[in-house]
Amino acid sequence: MHEDYWNRCLNLIEKKLETQSYKTWFKPIQSIDYNDNILTLQVPNKFFYEWIEEHYLDLLNDSVVKILGNKGKIEYKINKDISNLHSKEKKSNYIFKNKKIVPDMIVSNLNSNYNFENFVEGKNNNIAINASKSISENPGTNPFNPLLIYGEVGQGKTHLLHSIGNETHHNKKNHRIFYTTSEKFTSQFISSLRNNKVEDFTNFYMNIDLLLIDDVQFFYGKEKTQEIFFHIFNHLNLNKKQIIITSDRSPKNLDGLEKRLVSRFKWGLTVELEKPSFETRKKILKQKIKFNKINISEEIINYISFEVNTSVRELEGVIISLIAHATIEKSDINLDLAKKVIGRIIKDSNKEIDIDFIQKTVANFFKITKEEMKDKIRKKEIVIARQVAMYFSKDFTNHSLKSIGNHFGGRDHSTVIHAVQSVNDMIDTNNIFKHNIEDLKKRFQAKSA
Ligand code: ADP
Ligand code: MG
Repeated sequence: MHEDYWNRCLNLIEKKLETQSYKTWFKPIQSIDYNDNILTLQVPNKFFYEWIEEHYLDLLNDSVVKILGNKGKIEYKINKDISNLHSKEKKSNYIFKNKKIVPDMIVSNLNSNYNFENFVEGKNNNIAINASKSISENPGTNPFNPLLIYGEVGQGKTHLLHSIGNETHHNKKNHRIFYTTSEKFTSQFISSLRNNKVEDFTNFYMNIDLLLIDDVQFFYGKEKTQEIFFHIFNHLNLNKKQIIITSDRSPKNLDGLEKRLVSRFKWGLTVELEKPSFETRKKILKQKIKFNKINISEEIINYISFEVNTSVRELEGVIISLIAHATIEKSDINLDLAKKVIGRIIKDSNKEIDIDFIQKTVANFFKITKEEMKDKIRKKEIVIARQVAMYFSKDFTNHSLKSIGNHFGGRDHSTVIHAVQSVNDMIDTNNIFKHNIEDLKKRFQAKSA
């Protein structure tokens, strides 16, 4: 009998809603009981009924009253089998307060400019592309779950991730697809902790069909975030939901991430996006040229493809610069212009961060002055800041230990070695410190990228 009531309600609801919303939010609900004017509905999780109450309460009430009469009421029960550990039964009329953490659940954060059509295939990426395409056809139920794509900056990881999202959306209209970066995930989690909304946060993620997480290396040292991600990961995996992760380094080098998490990443397929070969670089260039509707001779294409062999992002950078120069200088794109632009871009990218910049940045970070860093002062904060600056000078410049020591008020090379060791020790033993180092490192990487 309860099924009959619910089906009749559904018929009414279906007439008033777009098919998509109806299928997403009402189709998954099952009625399980009718007693004492109360129709009990089973929903997949708490997030689900909160969403319904927030968006479709009137619609639902109207139809319930029409079918069950004025005394008719609804209660929800969460399906324990598929919901998370903390879910509790909850009565109707819950008011969902924090709207911010509820993005569009069908497709979110996807950039439609990144798709398979404009992703050039080569020997360097064809395994990744093929796995990605087959995931888009059968998300969740394929041998590539999770898929971990790794590779250096600018080789197309983010592009590929969005392509999978876009193509899956095309194939599976009702799939909830969500793209985010590990950094956004972390800050969202932290704010949910602050606002006592962790349950909403986990529920949200546990209800995604295709989860795309970019740049997991930034989970580095964030233990709490990793723990919650681990639970979400397990839940999604258990329910055959698809997870795709990218990282700028191989799982072997993902230190700072929990072992159990990294070992989960390796359950499916791990694939590298390598640097494109000369031929592939040419193909990519030609595609970008066509897209930008410009004319460049084969000779120049060959020249650029030969010279710019670092990343696809740099290739793109060259094209964009060339177009800009040609427009501003009202000249054709000739070999001279190409040489000039490449010269500058390649030089820029090889630009070394100097010790002065490192000292300034680190001093700023630790709220001391650059001069104190070079002084003989032995105050603890200053000593630490000095050691950190030495540590980064060794990592990001080509200066010898002796030369680094000289830049820090004439200290000798053994002081620099000692500084590097101390910093490494502190990274191992102090999480906050580790965090700070990682933050600083990102600034230097951004500067040298
Ligand atoms: P990553 O995330 O690995 O740092 P991105 O996905 O941001 O790299 O790629 C950098 C740029 O290069 C993007 O604009 C992307 O569209 C482009 N790109 C990378 N690989 C390819 C490719 N195989 N074909 C076409 N464009 C590419
Ligand atoms: Mg990226």
